[in-house]
Amino acid sequence: MDIGFIGLGHMGFPMAARLAAAGHHLFVYDTHDDAVTQAVTSGVHAASSPRDVADRVDTVLASLPSPQVSHDVATGSDGIIAGSKVKRFADLSTVGSPMAQRISKQLAEREISMLDCPVSGGVHGASNGTLAMMVSGPRPEFDTMCDILETLGRPIFVSEKPGAAQTMKLVNNMMAATALAATAEVVVMGVKAGLDAQVLIDVLNAGSGGTHASRDKFPRAVLPRTFDYGFATGLMVKDVRLYLDEAKSLGLPTDIADAVAALWEHTLNEEGPASDFTSVIKPIEEAAGVVVGGTSRSD
Ligand code: NAD
Repeated sequence: MDIGFIGLGHMGFPMAARLAAAGHHLFVYDTHDDAVTQAVTSGVHAASSPRDVADRVDTVLASLPSPQVSHDVATGSDGIIAGSKVKRFADLSTVGSPMAQRISKQLAEREISMLDCPVSGGVHGASNGTLAMMVSGPRPEFDTMCDILETLGRPIFVSEKPGAAQTMKLVNNMMAATALAATAEVVVMGVKAGLDAQVLIDVLNAGSGGTHASRDKFPRAVLPRTFDYGFATGLMVKDVRLYLDEAKSLGLPTDIADAVAALWEHTLNEEGPASDFTSVIKPIEEAAGVVVGGTSRSD
């Protein structure tokens, strides 16, 4: 099948590569020329704009870094909305519910269907085809796209309501942001008190304190001090802010989320938006005067 794919970053590149490897004909676009060049060498076609992609195929996917970029790519003057062939757009980015609803409404005016389809599982999940894919939008479009999405992971239909999958994704990411920040804080405490970092992680994972952070992120990127898990601090902060916006708009208490958000905002200031999100531990280490890990990768 002919498929368009826009945004070939940490997530988009391996997803596009999986679709191409499954035999689909891909037409790709990214503002970063190197990403396109690298993709084209592995057998996909380059397009010159989102509109060009949408002129060539009826199904377009995107994985983009911010709500505003998704909006521009979907509805700008050279965007998907201006394409002559496109019938459906699946946005795999995390953009928040209000933005997904806005894009969906604008595309619907041109009879283009939208599925919002944020994903969870990181770069490893994107490479291995094991992403959790939360989908909302018209059920018939979900059914049409299910085979494509199954190449990338496990699609779960959340609701027909535009933006519902974004709410689901923000709930998931707030938990992930909390678990990583909390794990960083308690491990620094243990090391400061004299415990060995590897033993700490092993015991957390054998006991009731284990989380995805201690099972996967610490062994892969913190203990070996590589800080290369593949998700930027700037994107984590985007998701935490989107969660808080939505929770506050519902008039809900956000005591835990506020405390976690303060730690992530501090990490953003100290480490920069391009740093890997596992760097959240660095300001905590600095305040404590300890360094966690430095052991070799245990997997
Ligand atoms: P990234 O920054 O690595 O990739 C974004 C890509 O979009 C880049 O290649 C960039 O050049 C391209 N781009 C930017 N503006 C563009 C435009 N106007 N037109 C076309 N391309 C453009 O980001 P990522 O880590 O791949 O994340 C993408 C989305 O997936 C984000 O919404 C993020 O929150 C979400 N996400 C990321 C992860 C992860 O582990 N990295 C996991 C789940 C969800």
